[in-house]
Amino acid sequence: MADRSFSAGEVEKFCYCPMSWWLSRSDNTTQGENTSAGTLAHEKLSADLSNLSGKQAESVLYSRMIMYYAVIATALAAIGISLVNFDQKLMISRILLLVAVVWLLLSLSILYLTRTEVYSRKRLTERLILFLATLSMVLSIMSVTILQVNTLLAEILETASLIWLIGASSFLYLDLRVEEKALRLERSMNISGKIVYIGDDSHPVLVSENRSISGRPDFIVESDGMLMPVEFKSGRVPSGPLFSHVIQISAYCKLVEDNYGKRPDFGFIYYGTKRFAVDYDDEVEKLLMTKVSEMKSAEDAGNAHRNHNRPGKCLNCSRRNICPERLV
Ligand code: SF4
Repeated sequence: MADRSFSAGEVEKFCYCPMSWWLSRSDNTTQGENTSAGTLAHEKLSADLSNLSGKQAESVLYSRMIMYYAVIATALAAIGISLVNFDQKLMISRILLLVAVVWLLLSLSILYLTRTEVYSRKRLTERLILFLATLSMVLSIMSVTILQVNTLLAEILETASLIWLIGASSFLYLDLRVEEKALRLERSMNISGKIVYIGDDSHPVLVSENRSISGRPDFIVESDGMLMPVEFKSGRVPSGPLFSHVIQISAYCKLVEDNYGKRPDFGFIYYGTKRFAVDYDDEVEKLLMTKVSEMKSAEDAGNAHRNHNRPGKCLNCSRRNICPERLV
């Protein structure tokens, strides 16, 4: 059992420069426009992610409502069919037929208008929902015309069936609208998948099994059954992921594995809208744990020092003004 846990952010600082991490322990203020710009960017990101997550949850709710309404409408229509009598022709049947045809055409129009990208995103179960809704409409038409329902109970059932179909069609319309908005947001943020965790106060801090690492990734996305942590970085866009950021995203992968029971194959780092997939394998996990162990040793020793000779690093360091070992 570890004596204390280091946050993934601390691990990132340590990997950038141990002195930077050491100074951050006693001084929570950082300097520079980059830092405040980064805070603002993260606040905006958090708001955008909440918005996207809300749209995705709404879409799931509407899909369920479509299924609920469509199944009940189908059941009502089927019961109506079972009560057929071939002797009478009622005006009400003609009216119900007209309404059913209108709703059928409306639904087909909605499917046609959204047949492209949004529709293709629907999973098999959602396609089944749409099929059920259409099937129930056909059943209604059959029950009030070809089979000529002639009992009061059958007429009531068919009327109820049509009302439920109207409900199913309404939820279908709402679902497709929300899905389109979610798709636009995902595109603008270059994200694909379902948001299952956002690293703000609405979600708990994740802690590793041995309690040596903790933290909140910017968010966790689920795609094809795999969970992947994502970290956004503001500021300059490098040609490839920086070492300290690679170790930080590895720490988040470790947290995802320990908290969700699924080991990610990789995590994502975004520099602006430029995305890098960072592999999470045994080697990088070992390196992560080595760094955590070095942090523990530095803490026990009561000091940490600069471990590089790169003036550029110091130039970009947010603690340069209070650092006794800075190179520039
Ligand atoms: S100024 Fe340089 S030596 Fe000091 S903490 Fe920053 S990177 Fe490290």
